[in-house]
Amino acid sequence: MVKDLAVPTQAYLGGQWYAAPRTFPVRSPYSGEVLAEVADCGEAEARLAADTAVEAFRTWRKLTGFERGRILRRWNDLLIAHQEPLGRLTALEMGKPITEAKGEVLYAASFVEWCAEEAPRIGGELIHPRFSHKRQMAVYEPVGPVYAVTPWNFPTSMITRKAAPALAAGCTVIVKPAEQAPLCALYLAKLWEEAGGPPGTLQVLPAADPVPVSRVLMEDPRIRKITFTGSTPVGKLLYRQAADTLKRISLELGGNAPFILFEDADIEKAVQFTLLSKYRNTGQTCITTNRIYVHRRLEADYAQALAEAVSRLKVGDPLDPSTQIGPLVEEQGLQKVVAHVEDALAKGAQVATGGRPLGGLFYAPTVLTGIKPGMRILEEETFGPVAPLMPFEDEEEVIAWANNTEYGLAAYIWTRDLGRAFRVAEALEYGIVGVNDPVPSAMGANLPFGGYKSSGLGREGGRWGVEEFLETKLISIALP
Ligand code: NAD
Repeated sequence: MVKDLAVPTQAYLGGQWYAAPRTFPVRSPYSGEVLAEVADCGEAEARLAADTAVEAFRTWRKLTGFERGRILRRWNDLLIAHQEPLGRLTALEMGKPITEAKGEVLYAASFVEWCAEEAPRIGGELIHPRFSHKRQMAVYEPVGPVYAVTPWNFPTSMITRKAAPALAAGCTVIVKPAEQAPLCALYLAKLWEEAGGPPGTLQVLPAADPVPVSRVLMEDPRIRKITFTGSTPVGKLLYRQAADTLKRISLELGGNAPFILFEDADIEKAVQFTLLSKYRNTGQTCITTNRIYVHRRLEADYAQALAEAVSRLKVGDPLDPSTQIGPLVEEQGLQKVVAHVEDALAKGAQVATGGRPLGGLFYAPTVLTGIKPGMRILEEETFGPVAPLMPFEDEEEVIAWANNTEYGLAAYIWTRDLGRAFRVAEALEYGIVGVNDPVPSAMGANLPFGGYKSSGLGREGGRWGVEEFLETKLISIALP
């Protein structure tokens, strides 16, 4: 099936398709079959990629923003033209239901489109001088060659959200995609080549083990920036490693999003909200609702309506357009979901629907009630199709519960009371707050995306995402 999609399986190094001496298998989480054997890069390939990225940076940075923008524009057009095969590839390699997978391709392209337009606008500022004989300006320059490490759950958009602003700024980029889903990354490289992206500007190094590639690039002082999306422990590790060469760093890490349902909520709309915010991508998004605080007055009706709707979600083959819930990406992810549900049940929670594995890597879409503090499901990112419901009565108390976590990526509230909407949104210690909005970052190439606390550093999207790849240089001219 992957053969029909004409996906490269070699690494993309220095503008060449490079057959590494070793390969590793990429498996379908749905069927377990090996989809492809992909180049397995290590230290040697990382060194070659670093040399090439440094060399290519010399010329890429000198192009005008208009020239870089034109190549990005062609990349965007190609991405959109290849929505179907890229969507299928996403469904095949990481199990995202095809309708959502095709949506992700448009989301991925939207960053490229935005950055194609931003490229010519990256200029600088004239500064009003303190001394009348001086002329002073702030000039924005590309930070240098960039190392980008990306996760499997959004295998195209997490790459374009980094690569597009970096390339627009004049940086060259080495991508190390997640080992579970490297094929989308290689497909993106193929389209970059077709768009006329010069050799060495974008390189893709798949690896079964991320450590050897990472070690070389993190130790190389010529790589000036690391941008990472993934789990918080790996993000912290890269933060420490970046210190030795003082690389600039952006981190998009894990979350533990609360959804607070106030007593003025409309149950039917709240259920639709929950389906989108909790069960999209089978619960495997960083901003997915992880815990639901429902006002005690609504608890019984909402739990019943949600359980009914969730029990109707269609579980199945990610390539079937009617599928709403696919498999989890791997056994480790499934075991985490199983462990969170078992822990909650052992401590007194009840199953309103689901609550069991369905064979293979499938887990039944689940609603749990009777959730109490001290359960793992409230404290850790579950990353699966399980909604735990806990009642509350008091606004201040629920805000304190919502903030009582090391994470701070996304939080959601539902209310019709404008005063409360602002009060609570401002009190939540999160980088993204959705008020009656289950998808606050949808098609959000123009929006700042990122977390507080252990959810990350820096922002992606909009002008904020481009600024992450720029240095600011002061040029001061004293008139003779
Ligand atoms: P992960 O941290 O295991 O892996 C992410 C990437 O890091 C992969 O490419 C992996 O190969 C690499 N990696 C792993 N160990 C490494 C090491 N020691 N050195 C260098 N690289 C290493 O995360 P995951 O399971 O792929 O992704 C899921 C996590 O990502 C969740 O926590 C999710 O919330 C988070 N995420 C965050 C965002 C965001 O924007 N904040 C978006 C998507 C996913």
